[in-house]
Amino acid sequence: NPQGSSNSQEEKIFVSVRLRPLNEKELARNEASDWECLNNNTIAFNCSQSDRAVVPSSYSFDKVFGCDCTTEQVYQEGAKDVILSVLRGINSTIFAYGQTSSGKTYTMTGITECAVADIYGYIDKHKDTEFVLKFSAMEIYNEAVRDLLSSASTQLRLLDDPEKGTVVEKLTETVLRDSNHLHELLSVCEVQRKVGETALNEASSRSHQILRLTIESSAREYGDSEKQSTLAATVNLVDLAGSERSSQALSAGARLKEGSHINRSLLTLGTVIRKLSKKNRHIPYRDSKLTRILHNSLGGNARTAIICTLSPARSHVEQSRNALFFASCAK
Ligand code: ADP
Ligand code: MG
Repeated sequence: NPQGSSNSQEEKIFVSVRLRPLNEKELARNEASDWECLNNNTIAFNCSQSDRAVVPSSYSFDKVFGCDCTTEQVYQEGAKDVILSVLRGINSTIFAYGQTSSGKTYTMTGITECAVADIYGYIDKHKDTEFVLKFSAMEIYNEAVRDLLSSASTQLRLLDDPEKGTVVEKLTETVLRDSNHLHELLSVCEVQRKVGETALNEASSRSHQILRLTIESSAREYGDSEKQSTLAATVNLVDLAGSERSSQALSAGARLKEGSHINRSLLTLGTVIRKLSKKNRHIPYRDSKLTRILHNSLGGNARTAIICTLSPARSHVEQSRNALFFASCAK
């Protein structure tokens, strides 16, 4: 951006970290919290209390949210600009990345609430523009794509459209009446996700959920409808599978043992994001369902924010380090 500041959501990939508080179970076990937010950009590992003095012990990001930060703050400073760019016709994606129980769903649910309120607030203030909002939702489990707005458990195919790029065939897309309507649909998704979870053991930690909002806007120009210009863009709110599914694959030994736990979409996402941040020319979008589906909203002119959620517990320190390493690679 013109100021040359790196601390802006204008960055192509805005990376933040959110540390959650110790939960009741962890408090009951007398778990220590080994992480400390040094300032708005830096989180540090308190090495003195541990024999695992592995470097580096501090990590810097565009933003670090400590355990006393609210989701509203995380939204305002870590996601809002990226999400609202959809109103200017720019595609965007927000990811929550972190191990299971680190707060991904908690964070994304809250961010979705804030985003919906903001988008409808914007629409109310711009009476001279006509908006059409469309919503769809899907889940990727074991490289199978399922519609979260449909009770049919059929697997959806991905098609290559010469104009639109990758299209999810037969995915339900609902035109929204208002924010209440969206809340109704979000509950439907919640139910569908639970159904899947019961059918497939611990599916929520292994599956990716994508909530997709497409916004079309056209300025109302009275008298000359020919002159109407329409903007259309998509924002994706992505609650990723637990990051333990990719870090287990990092060591060769684990790869043999944990083969079934390796999550192709999560691994490919890591590669895609790393290559985007290094400005590589070949980005392997086609290697997984997740990256194919998000292709138009990841890289290019699209805006991306990653919120890396972190458990403060000492027993999670290896997973926390892995997650921070992933987040560092996105910068
Ligand atoms: P994940 O989706 O990463 O598996 P969840 O979002 O389900 O994790 O969070 C695990 C638990 O911790 C939930 O009970 C959730 O309400 C709680 N939690 C997560 N983040 C926070 C936070 N920042 N503040 C308070 N509670 C949180
Ligand atoms: Mg979750």
